[in-house]
Amino acid sequence: MSRVLVVTGGARGIGAAVALRAAQDGWAVAVNYRASADRAEEVVRQIRDRGGVAVAVQADTSREDEVVRMFDEVERKLGLLGGLVNNAGVVGQPGPVQQIDGPRLREVLDVNVVGYFLCAREAVRRLEGRSGAIVNVSSRLASLGGAGEQVHYAATKAAIDTLTLGLSGEVAPRGIRVNCVRPGIIATEIHAARPADVLANVEKAIPLRRIGRPEEVAEAVVWLLSDKASYITGALLDVGGGR
Ligand code: NAP
Repeated sequence: MSRVLVVTGGARGIGAAVALRAAQDGWAVAVNYRASADRAEEVVRQIRDRGGVAVAVQADTSREDEVVRMFDEVERKLGLLGGLVNNAGVVGQPGPVQQIDGPRLREVLDVNVVGYFLCAREAVRRLEGRSGAIVNVSSRLASLGGAGEQVHYAATKAAIDTLTLGLSGEVAPRGIRVNCVRPGIIATEIHAARPADVLANVEKAIPLRRIGRPEEVAEAVVWLLSDKASYITGALLDVGGGR
């Protein structure tokens, strides 16, 4: 199996933690970013400083032409693809469904659903005749529903759970495993727009009584990519401190 990995949204948050941890595990990592060029280069620098292999690759994952170009660029620079971590995501405008703004709703669907499908499609096409692994980063909200402020976001993540189940069945006979990690509340900039007291209240509802770290999600993702998870496909692994 090739050890070339694309991590979408790899410049910061959970994606950056995954890129760094995967490089430690021997993956040559393509760190995808949309706007955070400097931060993607910083992740690449950290990987190279530790003796790993990495490149930064710009692409908006919601755009088909950019996704295809990104995978072409990765294979040209690093070699044949071996894995994909579908991670790039947005939450959109928080609020109840009755206040949802059409264009913003479409952006969340485009990035969180269309983007994941496009990247998964490219990965599966390029893994023709070879084994590989895909990990989709979904969310615990896919099951919790996100009532009050994040139903639109939760629904996109439920779509990703179903993508995982369906695609894993399609490609398992070819030796491609597709799994999903469902983080709970993890300390990243995705929560930047939420008041601190809201997060503190959520923390009380988490059985482990704390918000998670990106590195804790990265461990689960990299394990699912690895041969240690060789008989696991179509799994939805919750990393939510018990919630
Ligand atoms: P984050 O810190 O806000 O990072 C989001 C990442 O997605 C950034 O690297 C951003 O890249 C990238 N991105 C957004 N739109 C993109 C696009 N169209 N094309 C390419 N990249 C794009 O968020 P995070 O918490 O690390 O979230 C990572 C994933 O985990 C998301 O799918 C999120 O839904 C999921 N998740 C997070 C939590 C949590 O509590 N943090 C919980 C459950 C699930 P640029 O900066 O370059 O735009």
